[in-house]
Amino acid sequence: MPEALGAPPAPQAIRTPQRSQVQPPPHAVSRLRTERLARSSRPFLARGGIKGLRCPGCRLVPSHCLCGLGLLQSTHAGVCLLMADIEPLKPSNTGWLVADVVADTFAFGWGRTETDPALLALLADPQWQPYVVFPGEFVRPERVVHTVDTVDVASHAEDGGLPSKRPLFILLDATWAEARKMFRKSPYLDALPVLSLQPAHLSRYQLRRSRRDDHFCTSEVAALCLELAGDLPAAHTLEAYLDVYTHHYLQAKQQLPADRQGDAHVRLRVASLPRVAK
Ligand SMILES: [Zn+2]
Repeated sequence: MPEALGAPPAPQAIRTPQRSQVQPPPHAVSRLRTERLARSSRPFLARGGIKGLRCPGCRLVPSHCLCGLGLLQSTHAGVCLLMADIEPLKPSNTGWLVADVVADTFAFGWGRTETDPALLALLADPQWQPYVVFPGEFVRPERVVHTVDTVDVASHAEDGGLPSKRPLFILLDATWAEARKMFRKSPYLDALPVLSLQPAHLSRYQLRRSRRDDHFCTSEVAALCLELAGDLPAAHTLEAYLDVYTHHYLQAKQQLPADRQGDAHVRLRVASLPRVAK
């Protein structure tokens, strides 16, 4: 039987997170999900997923809750998720994981006829250099770039050069068909450079990751972009976190316990260790 995500869980059903920390305020994707649910006339039905009540902080059942890991980081780059209508409601959406790690994550619902003024204000904010992340073969060559300003460039700029803008990666969080439509029908994206991830980046990444298919999910694309911008701790945290989240999600679905001492958790702990300044 499909589960209902429409009704918010009763407060007494939400167990305290693993580490007894105060829950941070809901992030951008969480807020977008709440707004989207408020507009729904019918509950969203996710097929074949986890049964039972879910933690509002991580979308997993309380026994598999991943809240309180303390993964949120400040980064040089930011991420702007432009999400297809139903995307914030999907329990498997990995844009949520990006917002758990990257403090400057923004999320907007995409509409063909309406554009959130806050999105336009963000794209016009002079601290950011927005890049639309999209395959270069679908774009005029003069718009396509393969590199972005890195953390190192930013620190040199602070030494006296012109201040460098922070990269803002615009990710179209949608199916491929939807993403193509969003790209074509969003005039405010037309003037922006397109960051096309090159096969070399993708194949190097593929060697490292645990899965062996060719499909890159949103959090993996975000990790690649962060790596390009020199935000290596956040990139590696996000990579490891996807494996941890996938493990918890699949174990919960099969009603099996999560292995919190397993390989994925160990890699995440190493990746997210606080860096000691050299
Ligand atoms: Zn949780």
